[in-house]
Amino acid sequence: MAEQSEGRFSGVRSPGDRSRDESRGILLSVVTERADSLVKLFYDTLLADEAASAFLSHSTVHNRLSLSLRNWLLELLHARWDNDPSAFDERQRAIGDVHARIKIPIHLVLQGASLIKEAVSAHLVKLDLPREVLAEAIILLDQRIDYAMRLMSQAYVSGMARRAQLDEAFKLFALGQDITLERESQRAALMEWSQSVLFSLFGSQAGADLKPICSSPFGLWLHHRASVMFQDVPALESIESAMQQVDKVLLPKIEEARATNGPDLTETLGRLQALIEQMKFLLADLFQSVAGLENGRDPLTRTLNRRFLPSILSREISIAGKNGSPFTILMIDVDHFKQINDRWGHSAGDMVLRQVAEAVLDTVRLSDFVFRYGGEEFLVALVETAAEPGFTVAERIREALMSREMHLPDGTHLTVTASIGVAAHEGHPDYAYLIEAADQALYQAKERGRNRTVIAGASPRQPLR
Ligand code: GH3
Ligand code: MG
Ligand code: MG
Repeated sequence: MAEQSEGRFSGVRSPGDRSRDESRGILLSVVTERADSLVKLFYDTLLADEAASAFLSHSTVHNRLSLSLRNWLLELLHARWDNDPSAFDERQRAIGDVHARIKIPIHLVLQGASLIKEAVSAHLVKLDLPREVLAEAIILLDQRIDYAMRLMSQAYVSGMARRAQLDEAFKLFALGQDITLERESQRAALMEWSQSVLFSLFGSQAGADLKPICSSPFGLWLHHRASVMFQDVPALESIESAMQQVDKVLLPKIEEARATNGPDLTETLGRLQALIEQMKFLLADLFQSVAGLENGRDPLTRTLNRRFLPSILSREISIAGKNGSPFTILMIDVDHFKQINDRWGHSAGDMVLRQVAEAVLDTVRLSDFVFRYGGEEFLVALVETAAEPGFTVAERIREALMSREMHLPDGTHLTVTASIGVAAHEGHPDYAYLIEAADQALYQAKERGRNRTVIAGASPRQPLR
């Protein structure tokens, strides 16, 4: 084969080169002969995934993908890319990025690649080759596929991370909008659609086509916006299935009854009315699920909800890494809080918690993030702040609490104290590590008698997990 002499080290050729060239030639011819069945093997693996298969079964995608899979496989084993590895590398990364974009899970791609390796190796074994040639061929196959997979996975992972950040950012943005206004306008959109059905039946537009709810403004809102804002809220799926019921069952029934002047129009309309009522109810539910989180906030204390902790801390850590800026977190735990509950009751406890949060929020800057981390624990993320100034802020919070009179429902006043752990980001990319360090410092503060601030050691004594 011509390409046998095109290796990167062409020129002086050793016997080892020759056997490598021979192995490569054999490998390439095995793969070329069986390219179609290998492509099918790979493709079938991808189709095993529901989400990926929805996209891949489209015939254009199928044909194009099969062709590019075929080319990929041949190029992979060809000697030619030795001459221009960077172009080859670039193509593998581009493939990984496409996989991330269309959400083809990386494990399926890896599985497909393993199956190809197995199938090709099995063919090679059957060829009765000299031991070295067979071994060379199998090793080469392994190396090349693994190399391509490594580049693809790398691009896939960074592509996915980029997209996840965007999703999260959009959700935060969407939730930050005026949620009450949105609820009211969607309730109105639902009613408007139901009136349009009645008008098509009895009103001035009697005889007009019935408009499906799925393509009404309400249906579009539900599919495109609500699905981002209310991910994983069960009411969303219930509304979706009610809409399907309306469009697929009730509207055709109404059409039929109208065409034949059938008697069951009243009954069907009654069912439609009931479904609309149900959707109204579910819509309220949907918004209720985030009512406490408007702007992602905890309903009791107005501090940030803990579920935003991962995205915000990861983001701050990556900013700190990129700019070389400091970043510090505080873990604050109210001392002997249980005694307050025990003595004055849970709702008095709630009132105290709200005032503790106010004191913390009043002490830090607007650019800092205050989270409700647990029952009576708060986590403060101090941006662009090193350990020492972080300690100063913690002390200010502690003093603010000591000097603040908390009001209870029965008119009683009391003061509370808190213990605080301080941990500065020291380059570890995992935010959980930072939290662990702050937690240990907090534990020290409790151990040393409470109502004090402790800075985490240069590195936490116990590594994470
Ligand atoms: P320590 O000084 O060791 O932190 O003592 P503590 O009593 O504060 O700590 P512990 O963890 O034993 O108790 C925390 C209490 O906080 C127990 C729980 O009932 C109470 N708590 C947690 N969440 C809430 C809440 O939302 N409202 C009220 N009122 N109490 C809460
Ligand atoms: Mg606690
Ligand atoms: Mg406590």
